[in-house]
Amino acid sequence: MKFGGTSLGDVSKIKAAAVRIKREVSRGNSVVSVVSAMAGSTNKLIKLVNDISKTYDKSEYDVVISTGEQISAGLLSIALKTIGVNSRSWTGWQLPIITDEFYSKASINEIKTEYIKEHIAKGEVAILTGFQGITKTNKLTTLGRGGSDTSAVAIAAALKADRCDIYTDVNGVYTADPRIVKNSVKLNNITYEEILELSSQGAKVLQTRSVVLAMNYDVKVQVLSSFDNNPGTMIIREENDMEKTKISGIAYSSNEAKITIFNVP
Ligand code: ASP
Ligand code: MG
Repeated sequence: MKFGGTSLGDVSKIKAAAVRIKREVSRGNSVVSVVSAMAGSTNKLIKLVNDISKTYDKSEYDVVISTGEQISAGLLSIALKTIGVNSRSWTGWQLPIITDEFYSKASINEIKTEYIKEHIAKGEVAILTGFQGITKTNKLTTLGRGGSDTSAVAIAAALKADRCDIYTDVNGVYTADPRIVKNSVKLNNITYEEILELSSQGAKVLQTRSVVLAMNYDVKVQVLSSFDNNPGTMIIREENDMEKTKISGIAYSSNEAKITIFNVP
């Protein structure tokens, strides 16, 4: 269960996320929860770095901006214990999640799951900080903005989880941005290829890398809202479907400019 920043935006939302986790545990599931920083906090941390220096060392930048997730993980674990759920928070380096040395946009090389598995087997909910890892030489790294989606899919793949549920502030993937297109429709299913195209063209549902990872490791991903109890959108493998529409969605980006040059031979 991955919770994004808006799903953990304040104390009451963190408590609500804990209640959701408790519900899954009482259904007999073993839960690993990956958390983002509370909404807005990563931006604040980045501003602090920029206010100190415009020519900062990227590895120290990662030390600073990875802290937001640690706060969420600790708070969510406290919220769980308060409602009687056995849990423990884990930072990226405690597993560890080993990455390369591309500070501020590192890639995951390996996740060591032995230690966390022992704890999960004891019935403990594991709350894992998204967005971060550690290099072979013990330096902290982050995975790029939106990287906790990638952390969630990666840990789901490493633990061979039945599913990776991404809780967010929308209740699924729509045929178009519902804030702009009023009659857009929520999709019950979408294929990896389709969501990959939509997210690389501007739809900000999931970090694009997380979709590639899910596709490569066959992780069943669901995008759903943390503010209601409806099923979300399942991201699935391409199937032969006679009634399948040719176009499943339209993405947009407002950061484009068109330049036309005339009279060029
Ligand atoms: N907190 C990080 C960010 O704001 C990672 C994430 O939310 O996925 O980019
Ligand atoms: Mg996000």
